[in-house]
Amino acid sequence: MSALVCWKCGTSLADYTLPLRRLEECRKCGAELHVCKLCEWYSVAVAKHCREPIAEEVKDKERANFCDYFKPRVGAYVAADVAASGKARSDLDALFGGGKNAAAEPSAADRAKAELDKLFNK
Ligand SMILES: [Zn+2]
Repeated sequence: MSALVCWKCGTSLADYTLPLRRLEECRKCGAELHVCKLCEWYSVAVAKHCREPIAEEVKDKERANFCDYFKPRVGAYVAADVAASGKARSDLDALFGGGKNAAAEPSAADRAKAELDKLFNK
C-alpha cells in the first residue's frame, strides 16, 4: 500500500498529522502541501484541473490553497515518470551524442586501419 508522499520531491509524508494543515510544508523540499498537486481531485485531464465540480478554482496548483475540498492523494508524486521520460530522453541524447561522438570514431577507425597497416607492412 502506497503512502502519502510529497507531490514535489516524493518524500514520505506518512508521519504528517492528517488532515494536513494549510501551511504544512514538506520538511525535505519545503513545498507547500495543502496544494492542488497533492489533492485527490487534481487532474490535468479536466477543466481547471480539478475534478471537484463545485470547488472554487485555484489558480496556482503549487501554492497552499484555502480549498475546502482539499483531500491529500496517495502517491501524488509523479515526477518519477517525468524522471523516467527524462532519463529516456537523456538516453536518447546519449545515443545521439554517441552519434556525434561517432564523428570522433574515425580516429578509432584510423587506429584500426593503422593496426591493419601495421599487419600488412609487416
Ligand atoms: Zn517535498
